[in-house]
Amino acid sequence: MNCRHVQNNLSAYLDQELTIEEMADIRTHLYDCSACREEEAELRSLKALLTGMKSKTPNADFEERLVNSTIQKGMAEARAWPRRAGIFLVVAVCSMLGTMQLLQSMKSRQDEITAKTERSHEIASAIHRDQVFTASLDPYNSGSIVLPTDGSDH
Ligand SMILES: [Zn+2]
Repeated sequence: MNCRHVQNNLSAYLDQELTIEEMADIRTHLYDCSACREEEAELRSLKALLTGMKSKTPNADFEERLVNSTIQKGMAEARAWPRRAGIFLVVAVCSMLGTMQLLQSMKSRQDEITAKTERSHEIASAIHRDQVFTASLDPYNSGSIVLPTDGSDH
């Protein structure tokens, strides 16, 4: 077994991936060859360093928990949307109803005033009609109308 063959298989040797015979051959060569021993020591420390840098393996259920929490978060947001929209709709309807009620009360107040004004006009014209009729019945009155007074002298 030459140095080149040993050094090509050093990594597999350190990982114990070779057959028992190959392992024994390399071990024997390392015992005799300082260059390959040096190479082996260097590779061993490099492997140890890499092993120390190995990232931690997450728990077996990590992926499942991650997926579940992502799904739940997504679902929570999906559920929150109609609720937010519902609140907005309720507020919008309430303010619309409030405005309509205000307009309605203003309208009914206006109608009330209009009705009272119309009634006043009706009463006024009825009084006028009565006065004209009464005056026409008076043989001493030549059609002139006597306006009603409130009893006080001006
Ligand atoms: Zn060698």
